Parts: sequence; C-alpha cells; structure tokens
Amino acid sequence: MPDKSRRIAIVTGAARGIGAAAACRLARDGMAVAALDLEAGSCAATVDAITAAGGQAIAVGADVSRADQVEAAVRTVAADLGPPAVLVNNAGVIRDNLLFKMSDEDWDVVLGVHLRGAFLMSRAAQKYMVDQRYGRIVNLSSSSAVGSRGQVNYSAAKAGLQGFTKTLAIELGPFGITANAVAPGFIATDMTAATAARLRTSPGDFQAAVAAQTPVRRIGQVADVAHAISFLASEGASFVSGQVIYVAGGPV
Ligand code: NDP
Repeated sequence: MPDKSRRIAIVTGAARGIGAAAACRLARDGMAVAALDLEAGSCAATVDAITAAGGQAIAVGADVSRADQVEAAVRTVAADLGPPAVLVNNAGVIRDNLLFKMSDEDWDVVLGVHLRGAFLMSRAAQKYMVDQRYGRIVNLSSSSAVGSRGQVNYSAAKAGLQGFTKTLAIELGPFGITANAVAPGFIATDMTAATAARLRTSPGDFQAAVAAQTPVRRIGQVADVAHAISFLASEGASFVSGQVIYVAGGPV
C-alpha cells in the first residue's frame, strides 16, 4: 500500500555499487525506494538491507534503454509505492576500447544505457513530478566527461548527461523540479575493478596509484557519492539546479 507520508524515489542500477548505496541512503533519509535493475531479483540484497533497517522498498526489473520496459516499470512504482518524486539515473555499463578498435555495438550500448536510459526514465517519471509540483532528478555523470583515454563512448555519454541535466533544470524548474548531476571520480566498485582488469593491474594496485594522484590521497567510496545524491535529492536543495557536483577528492 502506498504510504503517503513518504516521498517515493527510484534508483536505477540499484543492485550493487553506487546505486545500492544511494538506494539505502535515500531510504535512511525517509524515502520509500524502488530499486530498479535489469533483473528485479538482483535487487533483493538492496531491498532486504532497506527493510531490515525499518525502511520501505520494492525491487523492479527493467532495462533502462528500452522505452516499453521503462514505462511499465515507472507505472509499477506509481501503483505499488506511489508517484515518484525522486529519480536517480545511475544505471551504467562500460565497454572500453581505443577509438580505432571500438565497435558500433560498444558505442550504442554505452550511449543507450547512460544517455537514452536517463532520457527514457526522466520522461516517464516527470509527469508524476509535474503533477506533484515537486521533483528531484539526479544524474550520474563522471570525471570521464572531461576526456578519458579508451572511453570515447563513456566520456561522450557522461558529457552528454551534463547538457541533458542543465536542460532538464530549465524545462522542469517551473514545476518545482530540480535536476543536477553528480560526477564521481574513482569509486571502488565492480566497474572500476573491471577497468583495473582491462589495464592488466590488480584492483589494489590500481586504487593505490589513483589515491596517490588524488588531492585528498584516497579513492572514493560508494558512501561518498550517496552523500552527494542525498543532498541533491533533499527538500532543502530546492534552489540548487542544473549543477554538476564532482565527487572526486579534488578538482577535475
Ligand atoms: P556497477 O557496474 O557496480 O553497477 C551498475 C549497475 O547498473 C549494475 O547493477 C548493472 O546491472 C546496472 N545496469 C547496467 N545496465 C543496465 C540497464 N540497461 N538497465 C538497468 N540497470 C542496468 O557501477 P557503479 O556503481 O560503479 O556505477 C554507477 C554509476 O556511476 C554509473 O552510471 C557509472 O558510470 C557512474 N560512475 C562510476 C564511477 C566509479 O568509479 N565506479 C565513476 C564515475 C561515474 P548488472 O549488474 O545486471 O549489469
């Protein structure tokens, strides 16, 4: 049954990594959370962690790059939890390669999940936010948006998300909806472990090398990103919109 006293948040890619941490954090902040990932079953641990702590959560399965699945998933959230007021576009994949070796598919998959996914999810969720005259959209960009060797697809998607975010802020602001981006630097997740493997180094050595070059002399943790998302998703952040906050232990 929808609990009208709680805001409803959707977090995509919530099975693990930053998405799982953000889902748990927003639940701790008092929101009812729809944890969305490719398979609903893969969000079981996230949902269990939230409910074990006294929060409210459901798992939803959808491929964010598929319009039909996105529309159905957002309808399910509205029916089972209530109208979404917060959307965190976090689902992501990497298909790294140098330009001359990058396939059409590697380009399309990465642009499809990050950029098309954020577009489809935002379009589906905004009507509920407009009706409520309230909304918070947080998009996951990346420090790779400024350029990253071997990631022409990913950096294009993450830079595109910044323009997307600013335009959402302009179009949706009159309806009480803010849109912002969080752009993490190196965060310890499966995604960066995969990057270490591509560079033929261990996750530990990779992390130590990145930490040595980071002004605060450490790598990022998922909680660091969840904290920034929590701020941007909060009621009090109503005058912060169209911004990109780098969570990278220093300037990018
Ligand atoms: P992970 O790879 O750990 O998690 C990504 C999640 O997204 C997975 O659960 C994955 O599901 C899910 N996902 C992938 N494709 C889809 C899809 N089409 N539809 C729905 N869900 C999908 O990534 P991180 O937690 O590291 O990253 C989260 C976000 O933060 C991404 O957007 C990433 O680009 C961004 N980011 C991460 C940084 C880092 O250092 N880790 C740095 C900067 C930005 P499955 O497991 O089934 O594939």
